[in-house]
Order: sequence, then C-alpha cells, then structure tokens
Amino acid sequence: MSEQIENVVIIGTGCAGLTAAIYTARANLNPLVIEGALPGGQLTTTSEVENYPGFETGIDGFTLMDTMRKQAARFGTRFQHGTIESVDFTSNPRRLILADGEIQTRAVIIATGASPRLLGLPAEKALYGGGGVTTCATCDGAFYRNMDVVVVGGGDSAAEEALFLTRFCSKVTLIHRRDELRASKIMRDRVLAHEKIVTEWNQVVTDILGVEEKEVSGVRLRHVETGEEKTITCKGVFIAIGHVPNTKPFAGQLELDESGYLLPAPGSMIRTKVPGVYAAGDCADHVYRQAITAAGMGCQAAIEAERWLAEQDF
Ligand code: NAP
Repeated sequence: MSEQIENVVIIGTGCAGLTAAIYTARANLNPLVIEGALPGGQLTTTSEVENYPGFETGIDGFTLMDTMRKQAARFGTRFQHGTIESVDFTSNPRRLILADGEIQTRAVIIATGASPRLLGLPAEKALYGGGGVTTCATCDGAFYRNMDVVVVGGGDSAAEEALFLTRFCSKVTLIHRRDELRASKIMRDRVLAHEKIVTEWNQVVTDILGVEEKEVSGVRLRHVETGEEKTITCKGVFIAIGHVPNTKPFAGQLELDESGYLLPAPGSMIRTKVPGVYAAGDCADHVYRQAITAAGMGCQAAIEAERWLAEQDF
C-alpha cells in the first residue's frame, strides 16, 4: 500500500471527471484520475456531438474527449489505469481499493458514469460488438446499410436510434414491451409517421438468433399477453432500454436511489453525505444526462472539493 495521501482522486474520465480534473489541476491540487474500462466515457462511442457549446459545426466524440484529457494533463493531472473495486469512506483519509492496490485520499470526486442496460440474454452477450448486437446506432448504424435491423426499447433513446437508423437501413423494426412509447411526443410522432419504421407492440425479445454463425440473423419474440411466439429476420439488434449507473463499489458506503444512482446530501446537487466525497455526471443524474451537464457537475464538484480541502487546512 502506498503511503502517499492524495489531495483529490477523481474516478472516471468522461465529461464530468475530466472537467473536475481541469479545475482541480488548475487549483494546484495535483489531482489523480482513475481511468476505467472505457477511457473518455460514453461520448467516445458517439460519432458526432452537435450540441456541445463552442463547436459551430460539431465535433466527434472521441476528439472532444481526447482534447479534454490533454487539457487536463496540461495542468498536471496524473492518470492511472484501474478499476475501483470497493471503497472505505468511514476511514480518514478515504480508502479506494483497486485490484492491485489501494489509494488513500482526502477528497474523492465520483464520475463513473452509466453503462447501457442489456436484456440479459446469453445470445446477446455472445453477439455483442462485431456479431451484430450493439447499443450505439451512431457508432454502428452505417455498417447496416440496406439491411433490416431491430431496435429494442420504447424511450427517447430507442426512438432516436430508430430514426437515425432509417438513414442507412431498409427497414427498422421497433420492438417494445408495452403498447405505447415512453418517448416524448415529438419523438413518438416522428417514429410512428416514418415509412421505414414498423412497430412490434407488447413484445419481448426471448432470443437472438445467429450465435453459431457469429452473426445476427433474427430475433425471437413473445407477445406479453397472448404468449404467441414469432421470429423476425434482421442483421442488427440495437438495444436501447436505458442505462445503469456505475455505482456498485459505493453501495453500502453512500446513499443510492432504487435504480442505483448516487444521491446527493439534502440541499446539494454534488455533495454526498460523506464529507469530501462528491458525485458528478451520469452516475448521479438520470434526468439530464448530457455532456454539458456532466461537465457542469464536474466543475461544481471540483470547486466544492477545493473549498472543503481549504477548510480542512490541506
Ligand atoms: P428510458 O426513458 O428509461 O426508456 C427505457 C425504455 O426501455 C422504456 O421504454 C422501457 O420500457 C424499456 N425497457 C427497460 N428495460 C427493459 C427490458 N429489460 N426489456 C425491454 N424493454 C425495457 O431510457 P432512455 O430512452 O435511454 O432515456 C433516458 C433519459 O434520457 C430520458 O429522460 C430521456 O428523455 C432522455 N433522452 C432524451 C433524448 C432526446 O431528447 N433526444 C434522447 C435520448 C434520451 P417501459 O416503457 O415499459 O418502461
């Protein structure tokens, strides 16, 4: 175990984490950032970001995150690869436990983001990525030019994915477990009016076909009311059924809501109930979930951490 005690450790390298790094580094706090399995976060899987202020004609997600990382590094941010497995926030300094060691720190900014929710089918796991199952139409849609695909889900994400895929695909089948979309009215109307989109209501996906061939060839559906089963032929399966916050290591140490999102202390958006521990971005926000709101939360967390450290005379 290293004897060094960090001022502030930032967990995560999405918009929230890297903004917190830029601010804490510029405040001379010498931050350490823990980079997990998907450096740069969800934006690195997005092709074009058109709504991040400052880029008149848009910027691709990877470039935006790479630039943010370089900006944080320019002010002295240190980066370490690893995954936090558990934490001890009852101790002072706080302890962060990784597979290959432990970090002690006075302040912590949690910016671990959220991951796409999956259906939990064995075939989904086997065919994820190159096999034709994906959670990102903007990343993978162009591979399905002139092909039939399905989108699973009924929220704004599913509607957005389905509409995006109509640019490339011959037919997009939207499969939803209920008989109405949860998506906002404008998105619902667009989906229902689109000539390339067909809907399958009250259907759950029970299997994805093509595991042996390592290539999606269709999905098995079951009607939730009648139990009737059928197969739809398709080359791609786009899962858009929401996100799961990456907050497992903090369970039992911090308050989480019923969906696993980190809950702030009363009267704050950023502070948790543990002094010196802050939460920013999608791990704590299931409402806005935008790059710019995550960056804003990262900035707030950095300012809070800086003030708290100053109050403790560090
Ligand atoms: P969401 O609103 O939570 O919708 C998830 C959808 O997946 C729901 O229709 C849900 O069905 C379905 N679902 C969940 N678990 C399922 C399962 N195991 N099997 C089958 N279906 C399942 O998630 P989201 O669409 O990702 O949106 C999240 C937030 O981001 C929302 O606030 C949304 O408005 C916002 N957002 C906005 C935009 C935009 O404005 N352009 C784009 C994307 C996201 P039920 O309906 O039956 O619960």
